[in-house]
Amino acid sequence: MALNSSTQPSVLWALGLSLRGLTDFPGIGLANEAAAAALSRLMARAQKSGFQLSVASGHRDYGRQLAIFNAKMRGERPVYTDTGALVSKQSLTGHDWLHAILRYSALPGTSRHHWGTDFDIWDPSAVPADYALQLQPSEYSEDGPFAQLSSWLTTLINKDDAEGFYRPYTGELGGVAPEPWHLSHRPSAKSFQPLVDHAPLTQLWSGETKQLGQLSKVEALAGLQEVQGQYEAIMARYVRSYWV
Ligand SMILES: [Zn+2]
Repeated sequence: MALNSSTQPSVLWALGLSLRGLTDFPGIGLANEAAAAALSRLMARAQKSGFQLSVASGHRDYGRQLAIFNAKMRGERPVYTDTGALVSKQSLTGHDWLHAILRYSALPGTSRHHWGTDFDIWDPSAVPADYALQLQPSEYSEDGPFAQLSSWLTTLINKDDAEGFYRPYTGELGGVAPEPWHLSHRPSAKSFQPLVDHAPLTQLWSGETKQLGQLSKVEALAGLQEVQGQYEAIMARYVRSYWV
């Protein structure tokens, strides 16, 4: 059921501030309509191939991404290195601390999960019922429980036969860590990219949502000065390089 008749991307939608345009799909959750329809087709094909392709995490709003990011910036939530070691905030410069966080967590407003076009997927039928999903690359690699689903998807993606889905985070570009579970519906995601821009982001990060047409205030971004000082470099490395 559509929450709103308009499914055209808006700035508020692109930044995760509005649910307008999103549709609630059973088994998928709130999503962009075309992306969810494509995912339903991919799920049906997966089932025929013996997989239970399921969504672990789909749409995420600005507030949730802000809570995650701010808690990490403040050192209230653990931050890990690529090898799984805990990073100590005290041992790093502000610059390095920010980059350690950006490797695994998107800046609020720039998360592809705001759009409803991107989904973190897994296969519950490949693991025991009490399995605690971690979304770690090892779960999707050769010896992991989702290796078969992952290689089935890789084959389709390489042939451009995955209903428009691809994996933006392959780890090849050196910014965001590899996320083999993260699928993006390219044709839908494309139209949100130009809306993720400097002016609305900086208003939002400072907590100024009025100009964006949002009456409810949001908390300011933790580490705002550090982020603003490196805005262009951060956007190029962690955001725009994954756009298509
Ligand atoms: Zn994801």
